[in-house]
Amino acid sequence: MYYIKSKFHKYPLRRDRFYGDDVDNLLEKNPRVKWLDEAIEIPSENEYTLLWNTCTALFCFVNNEELRIINLLKKGLFLRELTSSSKAVPGSSSCNQDLIKHLFLRTMVTLDGETFIPLDIYQEGPVFEDHYLIELLMSESCNLSCKYCFAEPNKNRPLMTREIASAAIDKAVQLPVSSFTLEFGGGETFLYFNRFATLVKEIREKADKAGKDVEIVVQTNGTLLHKHNMVKFLLENNIIIGFSLDGPPEINDMSRPYSRGTGSAKDILKSVKMMHHFGQKNIPFLAVVNCHNVDYPEQVVDYFNFLGSSKGMFLPTLKIGAAEAAWEKTGISNEEYFDFMKRMIEHSGYGKKLQCLMIKRMLENLINPTRDFRCMRSLCGAGQDYIVIDSRGDLFPCSHHVHRKELKMGNISDSTPLGQYFSKNPLLNELYETRRVKNISRCSRCTWRHMCEGGCSLDSYYHHGHMRGASTLCGYYQKMYPFLLQCLIQHPQIIIAYLEDEVDIISF
Ligand code: SF4
Ligand code: SF4
Repeated sequence: MYYIKSKFHKYPLRRDRFYGDDVDNLLEKNPRVKWLDEAIEIPSENEYTLLWNTCTALFCFVNNEELRIINLLKKGLFLRELTSSSKAVPGSSSCNQDLIKHLFLRTMVTLDGETFIPLDIYQEGPVFEDHYLIELLMSESCNLSCKYCFAEPNKNRPLMTREIASAAIDKAVQLPVSSFTLEFGGGETFLYFNRFATLVKEIREKADKAGKDVEIVVQTNGTLLHKHNMVKFLLENNIIIGFSLDGPPEINDMSRPYSRGTGSAKDILKSVKMMHHFGQKNIPFLAVVNCHNVDYPEQVVDYFNFLGSSKGMFLPTLKIGAAEAAWEKTGISNEEYFDFMKRMIEHSGYGKKLQCLMIKRMLENLINPTRDFRCMRSLCGAGQDYIVIDSRGDLFPCSHHVHRKELKMGNISDSTPLGQYFSKNPLLNELYETRRVKNISRCSRCTWRHMCEGGCSLDSYYHHGHMRGASTLCGYYQKMYPFLLQCLIQHPQIIIAYLEDEVDIISF
């Protein structure tokens, strides 16, 4: 048997509901060992079988001999019966005891009717740690016209005034936390670099005064960072930059043209060179997987490597904003997205040459008891600890859904504290009251329900018209999670490449 678990979360959180601390004592009492109905077997292409508990989302891999022992447990047996010579794995009875111990720790069996952790531990939603993300749409205009853009940039929208930005910063530093992330979203922020630089100084000053730690992030289309002073400023101020790029120039330019129709890659490469000049070689590129690059994952990986990067983020085109109207010309299916990601993983040597942040987050979900990536949990935090402020000072719960009037939570000029706006919006109240996988008929019995947690709530709301719909990426999740688990058997180097310092591999 072997399995992989988090080094840092010895047990699932909610320790008040945890009662399996002393397994060895339990085993001493010759308990009755019984296989759990919630545990399922998923055969693989080699000698190992995956055991998966659909309620606790814990797993382990067992070989055929161990599977034979496990089959004896379906009706229940006392431990000593199992370690007796007639039932034992040839060689050692203590081996059987170890097997039972670890099956218990992975919630595949009960000992005298007791489970290691309660099976309903995620029933009311996943366990996670809050982290505030405040997104400022300082500029809502853009120099590109990406075919799948969901931000709906608009030249007629004003640049965010200093007053609105200052009010947002003031409220952000008053949040009842010691640290938060402030992201500049868009539109393209660097169209107004001087305003951006002024705000960065203001954020740093106010955060220092309030004793708060602020991580500043900018996702840029990368066309404008050609000047020394710009990149120098970004580095001196510890700004985290992500560049959008869909692949080699000939591919990128089909999906990310300038408004006038010409390609953007040439200018993005000038910015990449400037970053390299300052020693920033490993730029994290964000590619939107769309109908132009979906057949070329190998070329995209090779190109990012060629530009010195071993980090990527591959997001599928979402059927919102400009992409909704142009879906036939830009969209991809879940199967196509899966195929792209699978080939990307294989071509990148299972994380050796390039790692994708989305895959990292899925591996973390497999290994950790927490669901720290907000877009794969039913209580995603949209509007609560994720707040988007547009250029007019209006507040929305998520950048994917700005300008939907029914999602507006208020204006920054209101006296409401930043973390309280969501409570005034009926749709968001409904989201937080009802959105659980147990309430979504398609998800409630799904094997992978505590991995994707039903996916994005607002996305599913806009596609199904209610909060009880499964994720629009469901088909992708249902293929990718089993694929990653198969990788853990056949290509275990993936977990070392992605999460080496965070995992313990238990094997005996
Ligand atoms: S969205 Fe799909 S994969 Fe996710 S829990 Fe629901 S049915 Fe399962
Ligand atoms: S609304 Fe959807 S995209 Fe936005 S934070 Fe929540 S899960 Fe993520």
